[in-house]
Amino acid sequence: MHEDIRLLKELQDIDYWIGELERSKAFLPDMMKNLQEQMASMAADLSQKKARLQQAQIEVKDLEIKIAETKELKEKYQEQMLTIKTNKEYDALVAQIEGAKTEVAKDEERCLELMTEIEQLKVSVAGLDEENATIQEDNAGRLIDLQFQIDSVQGKMDEKEAYRDNLVRKVSKTAMATYERVRKGRGGDVVVALRRGACGECFKSQPPQKIQQIKKGTTMETCASCGRILIWEGEE
Ligand SMILES: [Zn+2]
Repeated sequence: MHEDIRLLKELQDIDYWIGELERSKAFLPDMMKNLQEQMASMAADLSQKKARLQQAQIEVKDLEIKIAETKELKEKYQEQMLTIKTNKEYDALVAQIEGAKTEVAKDEERCLELMTEIEQLKVSVAGLDEENATIQEDNAGRLIDLQFQIDSVQGKMDEKEAYRDNLVRKVSKTAMATYERVRKGRGGDVVVALRRGACGECFKSQPPQKIQQIKKGTTMETCASCGRILIWEGEE
């Protein structure tokens, strides 16, 4: 194979890896951010449910005290019934007893609602607790791994760049100019194999004479349509 083409093929592999490293510089921090956000939202959800559970338990205790007090008051009114003298006193007392009964009924109903909510929260908190522990542990491990990758990207890039500089020095100026022009203008691979007599990248059919030259591999042949350097990889 033409020496320039061999070098350019190697160069495009290096450039591919440099491109991948560039991309990882952008997406690795994004991945870390996503993991951190997941950890934070999970922990926040759990602590919010735990707080609500605690609050509901306090509400139940308060209501139970209030119910006991109202019942006590009602009994006191009922005792007073035995000593009343007038109809007016009687009516007032009956109203107070009825009022106390209504209040107890209302508070007991609220208590039941809260107890149902508490049962549901307990189940939900237990599940979340477990899920959260797993997420925190898994993500912490993945974050360490991602941080390690981020820290090593620059070193790997420097290595590839140094290797690239060394390669570029060996390539002829015209071949290098072709390579850079196509890479910047079209992107993707610059050195491509012939596929069924056509350019492997833009699929333009190549003239038979050019195909013969490509097969020989002693000259650098480019696609007239996209400018890519064509090589023979033993097809047909
Ligand atoms: Zn082409």
